[in-house]
Amino acid sequence: MYDFKVVIDPGHGGDDPGAVANNTNEKDLTKLISDYMYERFKEMGVPVAITRTTDETVNPTERVNRILNAFGDSEDVIVISNHINSSSSTSAQGAEVIYALRNEDTLAENILNALETAGQVTRTFYQRRLPSDTSKDYYFIHRNTGKTEPVLIEYGFINNKDDLNRIKTNYKKYVDAIVDAVIATKMGGSIPPQGTTTYVVKKGDSLYKIANEYNTTVAELKRINNLTSDLLTIGQILLIPLDSTSDSNNQTYIVKSGDTLYSIARKFNTTVDNLKKLNNLSSDTLSVGQVLTISGTTNEDIPSTVNYTVAKGDTLFMGNNE
Ligand SMILES: [Zn+2]
Repeated sequence: MYDFKVVIDPGHGGDDPGAVANNTNEKDLTKLISDYMYERFKEMGVPVAITRTTDETVNPTERVNRILNAFGDSEDVIVISNHINSSSSTSAQGAEVIYALRNEDTLAENILNALETAGQVTRTFYQRRLPSDTSKDYYFIHRNTGKTEPVLIEYGFINNKDDLNRIKTNYKKYVDAIVDAVIATKMGGSIPPQGTTTYVVKKGDSLYKIANEYNTTVAELKRINNLTSDLLTIGQILLIPLDSTSDSNNQTYIVKSGDTLYSIARKFNTTVDNLKKLNNLSSDTLSVGQVLTISGTTNEDIPSTVNYTVAKGDTLFMGNNE
């Protein structure tokens, strides 16, 4: 069901330890973070690859080759290069996300916000240019990676003890937040394909239980979601065939960054009150990636086919209403 792929790049490795401070090598931390990130994307059903799985020296040319060979040189490939920063000052702290000159800032911003929400101190998201040719990216991971969408994440400073402790203690939490942010960024604002609705997996769910609930089959669920195993993750978004559900007037919408109940209500020709009632919301607060039920109205004046105007930054994973 995802229209993007992820290549994870554990920075440095082998003969290149990266930054070294406080008895820690950057290359070991980036591998720890990347291995966990790889597992998390896999659990979520996102096609994922990794540039190294051992403590191996990978030069920039080889690294770029592995990135471009994983899923091809394509705009729908997100490259997440994991690094730990270092500074001559021990007071410098916080995470940074650097994105390529060819890309918009949405993904970088959402990742940095996710890190902040997960408890890491954050600095900024930005682009960095090569001083000798400012039309080019500073980092090869941006400069030489074709049409892919690379982000370089510096999780904090290795020579800052607070940053380092936070990373070592909380890296799984940070990665969970990043994985959610990447998926929400790529899926957010999208409308499920015609004839389907979405369902967010809850604790205790199984494909069998969901199939029963929606009067469909495990095989059908696996087919339309491209699932290769029966494993589900809490929070995973599944497509459900709509013609087999009872309330086929309803459709769903996945909240993207910048959305408000008001903006969504306007998009779908409904009201904030209706949205709150339909979704049992007690407050106006939305979170990115949240799935809202839309419409289900009995008002004859409102067309059954809603019009959704695609906004800049939206990912259309099926533009059937446009
Ligand atoms: Zn590094």
